[in-house]
Amino acid sequence: MHNYTVAQLVKQLQNKDVSSRELTQHYLDRIDAHDQELNSFITVTAEQALASADAADKRIAQGDAPALCGLPIAHKDIFCTEGVLTSCGSKMLDNFIAPYNATLVDNYEQVGIVSLGKTNMDEFAMGSSNESSFYGPVKNPWVTDCVPGGSSGGSAAAVAARLAPAATATDTGGSIRQPAALCGVSGLKPTYGRVSRYGMIAFASSLDQAGLMAQSAEDIALLLGPMAGHDPKDSTSVNEPVDDYTRLLNQPLSGLRIGIPEEYFGEGLNSGIETCVRDAIKQLEALGATTKAIRLPHTQLSVPAYYVIAPAECSANLSRFDGVRYGHRCEDPKDLDDLYCRTRSEGFGDEVKRRIMVGAYALSAGYYDAYYAKAQKARRLIQQDFVTAFQDVDLIVGPTTPSPTFEFGSKGKDPVAMYLEDIYTIATSLAGLPGMSIPCGLVDNKPVGLQIIGNYFNEAKMLGAAHQFQLATDFHTLAPANFA
Ligand code: GLN
Repeated sequence: MHNYTVAQLVKQLQNKDVSSRELTQHYLDRIDAHDQELNSFITVTAEQALASADAADKRIAQGDAPALCGLPIAHKDIFCTEGVLTSCGSKMLDNFIAPYNATLVDNYEQVGIVSLGKTNMDEFAMGSSNESSFYGPVKNPWVTDCVPGGSSGGSAAAVAARLAPAATATDTGGSIRQPAALCGVSGLKPTYGRVSRYGMIAFASSLDQAGLMAQSAEDIALLLGPMAGHDPKDSTSVNEPVDDYTRLLNQPLSGLRIGIPEEYFGEGLNSGIETCVRDAIKQLEALGATTKAIRLPHTQLSVPAYYVIAPAECSANLSRFDGVRYGHRCEDPKDLDDLYCRTRSEGFGDEVKRRIMVGAYALSAGYYDAYYAKAQKARRLIQQDFVTAFQDVDLIVGPTTPSPTFEFGSKGKDPVAMYLEDIYTIATSLAGLPGMSIPCGLVDNKPVGLQIIGNYFNEAKMLGAAHQFQLATDFHTLAPANFA
């Protein structure tokens, strides 16, 4: 049952071939059997899941249930879930039971989607390997001595190991696409503002965006609609009608113009990955797309600009964790300064502290213009590259990551080596564009991701191209041997 896609499972639910309770129990059993090894969940909400499954079954029996009713999924532990631990992977929030739901959690509950629990993640979504979680690292189900990527590593590993048919995730600089690539699943980060950030714990507000991981692009197309939309509670959510994301799934690719950025195939790209990605591009051509080389000349500015902007925003956002309002509080503070200082020293891990310090420095008087203002200028140049490129092409395609998954600890001592994991994903985030990763091969049994970047609000077009690719190939159906 767990090898079925969302598209197949919802049909079975609607036809009453399987009940939501049976399906939910099946995934709970799989989590029980496998997650001790993987550590992809921080919290499993079995009782609540079965209660929602029963409610979904009632709606289905009444005959007017929404299409996704009764489908179990998992939520990244960055989304507030009422009455359930919402830790963001941090000791700081290890005692935080959210008093309300994030908008997207509410949206999903309304259509009868069942939550299995909360997935593990890098602390406050900062990282590319899931090694910074307070709850311990997540293992990559393909090669368990290697990382699943991050920060949404729990969501990626859970979907790859078939412990959930789909999972929510967030992407600030690559945290949906990079773990999706490293775990061999499909992942989409929508256009900035497409999905409400209300109730999603903030890392870098001008970049954070919620999205999805699932086995296939078709599954994501089905799940994105109910998640997306304007939310009066999030002033950065966009007031544009939600597209029908399944609309272009069956459209042939003839006439589709794809740009291949030269900058994404330079030094540092693993040769096995390059071969898989170039083969995937040939496949897209065989399906009727035309390709041309393009330039995104400011790409090399994206990692340095991001590592000023994201820490700057995080230093402001994380100032709320002060031991006064919620979360961790140190024992017996002497005075207010001691309370702040010890609470934050104890509650945050090393990577989060590093970012807060870099960010506070970049924003400080005298350095603001030199770092933060300059990074914002670079961001505009990077965005302009894409605006120019999209005058001639419909989609941009390249690798998602420079290398396949790597062993635990291998990049731990050098933060810059870790930061380079996102070299092909960060520019898209800085520009606020939608990006996705789909499986396109294996190198030494390690999954490879193909990145597809679209113009603003062109998610349907990206999903259409990805679906056509997936109809012609079977990379997305491969499951890690021990979890098949
Ligand atoms: N890996 C990047 C970082 O560490 C991106 C994280 C993310 O997208 N949340 O900041």
